[in-house]
Amino acid sequence: MAKEWAKAFYNSKRWTRCRDAYISKRIKTDGGLCEECREKPGYIVHHKITLTQTNILNPDISLNEDNLEYVCKDCHDLFEGHGLNKGIRPLCRFDADGQPISLREIDRK
Ligand SMILES: [Zn+2]
Repeated sequence: MAKEWAKAFYNSKRWTRCRDAYISKRIKTDGGLCEECREKPGYIVHHKITLTQTNILNPDISLNEDNLEYVCKDCHDLFEGHGLNKGIRPLCRFDADGQPISLREIDRK
């Protein structure tokens, strides 16, 4: 599940409209390819500046197309840890709905 404080944002019309508009724009531009690897189709709209409880309220960051990137699942998984963990196993993965799944939970099964 998304972080508690981010749920209202991700469920908001403002965000879903902004995200859908951005995806349509990317599809018109290059067919909706991942903006990182440009090989796989985009899967999720990523915020380049990671959202926090503070900046999520700032539309210049949370709803700004300049801060958005349409990326495939593999590239998005690599963003976890903001590049600090490159080469190290990410702490979570994302399911088909884009919700993070904790690897610790997966390990327990
Ligand atoms: Zn990619």
